[in-house]
Amino acid sequence: MHCHFCGGKLEKVEIGDVFFEGSICQNGHQISSRLKKYSQDEYWKAKGVKVDKSGKAEILREWLGNPDFRIKLPDQFCELLRAELDLTIGNQLNTVISGYNNCPMCSEKLNPKKSDDVWVANAECKNGHTWWTRHQIWSQDKSYSQQLDITHETYLTLRKFYKESKEHRECIPDQLWDLI
Ligand SMILES: [Zn+2]
Ligand SMILES: [Zn+2]
Repeated sequence: MHCHFCGGKLEKVEIGDVFFEGSICQNGHQISSRLKKYSQDEYWKAKGVKVDKSGKAEILREWLGNPDFRIKLPDQFCELLRAELDLTIGNQLNTVISGYNNCPMCSEKLNPKKSDDVWVANAECKNGHTWWTRHQIWSQDKSYSQQLDITHETYLTLRKFYKESKEHRECIPDQLWDLI
């Protein structure tokens, strides 16, 4: 597959979040694809839960990497945790924000596809591959999606959002609250 931002060829890489497959393109863009085998239900079920690990990186790894814990957290919060883990272990975050420029299948340029129906794909390459672009880029049958991992700026915005919201103070387990 190819990076939807630049068309570069993707290579698989290990990332912390067990619900996503990670890849990196030849131009260094970090991409995640959600694995279909995990339900997309996004509920907070983590209050009061604690993993039996010590050290920031190990605690984050367990929350993200063990499906029994990961299922208790919503995807967006896990994007923040993954960035937190990357920064903790000295990895760089992405430098670009999503732009749906190239076909993930063949890397050809994507063109807008006119449609009055929001449930019809809205981008197409010259080889006839069609995609939806909504938060992520999705194949027409929704069996495959790609998103760019967050930038440092988005990481800061997300962290502020979670830390300042009373509602989230009620859902985020203390163990993670103290780490973000
Ligand atoms: Zn790229
Ligand atoms: Zn294509």
